[in-house]
Amino acid sequence: MAEKGVGVTSLFAVFDSHDGITFAHEGLATPSGDVRLVPVVERLVRLRGQDGLAWAPGRQVAADGSAWAYDQRSVLERQVAEAAERGLTFKAGWELEFVLSSDDGPAPGGPAYSSTALLSVDEFTVTLLRDLEANGLGIGQFHAEYGQAQFELSLLPSDPVSAADDQLLARQTIHAAARAHGLRAGFAPLHTAEGVGNGWHLHVSALRDGVNILPGDGPHGLSEEGGAFLAGLLRDLPAITSVTAPSVPSSARLRPGYFSSAYAFWGVENREAPLRFVPATPLLGDGHANIELKPSDASANPYLALAVVIASGLAGLKDGLVPPAPIAEDPGTWSEERRAEHGVTRLPETPRAQLDALAAAEQVGAVLGPELLGAFRAVREADLAWAAERPFDAVVEAHRWKY
Ligand code: GLU
Ligand code: MG
Repeated sequence: MAEKGVGVTSLFAVFDSHDGITFAHEGLATPSGDVRLVPVVERLVRLRGQDGLAWAPGRQVAADGSAWAYDQRSVLERQVAEAAERGLTFKAGWELEFVLSSDDGPAPGGPAYSSTALLSVDEFTVTLLRDLEANGLGIGQFHAEYGQAQFELSLLPSDPVSAADDQLLARQTIHAAARAHGLRAGFAPLHTAEGVGNGWHLHVSALRDGVNILPGDGPHGLSEEGGAFLAGLLRDLPAITSVTAPSVPSSARLRPGYFSSAYAFWGVENREAPLRFVPATPLLGDGHANIELKPSDASANPYLALAVVIASGLAGLKDGLVPPAPIAEDPGTWSEERRAEHGVTRLPETPRAQLDALAAAEQVGAVLGPELLGAFRAVREADLAWAAERPFDAVVEAHRWKY
């Protein structure tokens, strides 16, 4: 099995968010077909927290062992290989925000970011930290967030494919630790329609010969290449968001005033910016500089999310883009006129607007390849049709425990 995998339906790529299968994509339009799901044995982990069981990420290959165009992990591997040809590697890592809830609902909130809020989940925290370490996951920080019963775990950065693998293993580990304490972890972009959302912010830096290329003597602590990489992300941002925050509730999370980002711009340490540049500091050194993408959440496939981010940054480098001036304020508080003066537009506010943005940025869709892009679009359409028949509260509720 380690070598030849297990047989699975070729329809994995066209299951929608509600476990319905859409047959609207031409390449996967019938229930016939089988591919192999091959475990990546180098990443096999005996699970602490689920004793007697193990976990490994998988690779989908065609029945004859050849490449299968719908395999998401391969999409990221392709981007990493392309970047390597240009002498670039990356460090990436996610912050995972989630709500912890018992049968009685989420614990009453303590003050934001406080140790009092953490106290309510002490036993869970100890299990979680122990299990993460045993499962080989390094963490930067675990803390109470500012939403009700909301917590955040930041994973240590790693090479892109490992970072995406780690993100999936972290989900499993958190879910198991929560279960061990009679809790449930909700990763959905919106736990409730009005409350604070769960962002899974993605941090990325690019390196040449192991040296971070983002920091430099240019404006705002960016190097010329760092500026170009950032400008590439900004150019494609609406389309990137359609992949990094793709579920129906995802775009509703992106409201001004929630530190989740809502408008397309960048800023230096600006918590309202979808692209927050975290500069190097004398204290933390050059290696610390990175770009945080805020319109990113748990409903995204982590391999595809990182692949489009890397591709857009690389395109910015290739085109020698120069970013506009950063914005230090929250443009959500500005007038339409002022936003227009600064060229600040709203990120797609609906899944339909996201799909349009993806169609308009052909270079982003091309990262997925025509087959997977077709399947991705078909799934989004199926999700849209499903949601169109329901009140938004019901849509949010249906996603609450999905991820
Ligand atoms: N919960 C916020 C979001 O939806 C992020 C809060 C923060 O980490 O600054 O992205
Ligand atoms: Mg946070």
